Amino acid sequence: MNIDMHVHTNISSACSCIDICQMIDYARYIGLDAICVTDHDTLHGARVAHKIGREKNFLILRGMEVNAVEGDFLVFGLEEDIEEGKFTAKEVLQMVSSAGGAAIAAHPYRRFERALGDKIFSLTDYHAIEVKNGNTPGMLNEMARNAALQLNLPGIGGSDAHRLNEVGRYYTRFKTPVKNERELIEAIKLGEYEAMTRTDEYSSKLAGVKGISIQKVNK
Ligand SMILES: [Zn+2]
Ligand SMILES: [Zn+2]
Repeated sequence: MNIDMHVHTNISSACSCIDICQMIDYARYIGLDAICVTDHDTLHGARVAHKIGREKNFLILRGMEVNAVEGDFLVFGLEEDIEEGKFTAKEVLQMVSSAGGAAIAAHPYRRFERALGDKIFSLTDYHAIEVKNGNTPGMLNEMARNAALQLNLPGIGGSDAHRLNEVGRYYTRFKTPVKNERELIEAIKLGEYEAMTRTDEYSSKLAGVKGISIQKVNK
C-alpha cells in the first residue's frame, strides 16, 4: 500500500497551494493508495480533506506536522491543534504517547530552518524517521537514513508537497493494509514499510494535462 506520509493543503498551511480535490485526483492517478495530510500544528486541513476523500472514495489520513521548539514531527493520533513552537520535542512526544499515537521525526537534518538534527539520538518515544523528505537535498536525507540505521528505527518517505506536482515524489510502501488512522498508527509502530521514490521521468508542472506523461509510483 503506497502512502504519501507528508502533504500540506491550502486549507490550513499558508505556504501550500494544493487544492484538495485536485490532490486526490492526482494522487489516484499516479498510483498512491492514500495521503496523510499533515498541515502545520492544525488538523483543520486534514479534516476537510478527509471529508472530501470520503466523498471521492480516496483514503485521507489525518495528521499534523507539529513544530516543536527543536524541530518538526509528523504526528498521528492527536485530536487537538497545537500551538506552534510552544512545546519542546519531549513534551510533544509525551502528548502523542499518552494519546496512544505515533510520531515521526520529520526531515531531521534539513538546513536553514529549525531541525532536530542529532537530537533524535537523545529523544525517545518516537517511532520512525523521515528518511526521504521531498524538500530536503539527497545528502541530508542520507544523513537521516544513516541515523535511522544506527537507531534501528524504520524510515518513512513523504513528499512534503506544497504544490500539486510534488505529491508522491517520495512515499512509503506499507506491507500491511491501512484503512484508518488507528491502523496507520499501529503500522507505523510495527515498522514494516519502506521509503520509496517516484522514479519515472516527469517534466511538467501541469499535472494531468493531456499529452504530458505523468510519472507514477511503482506498483
Ligand atoms: Zn517541516
Ligand atoms: Zn512539511
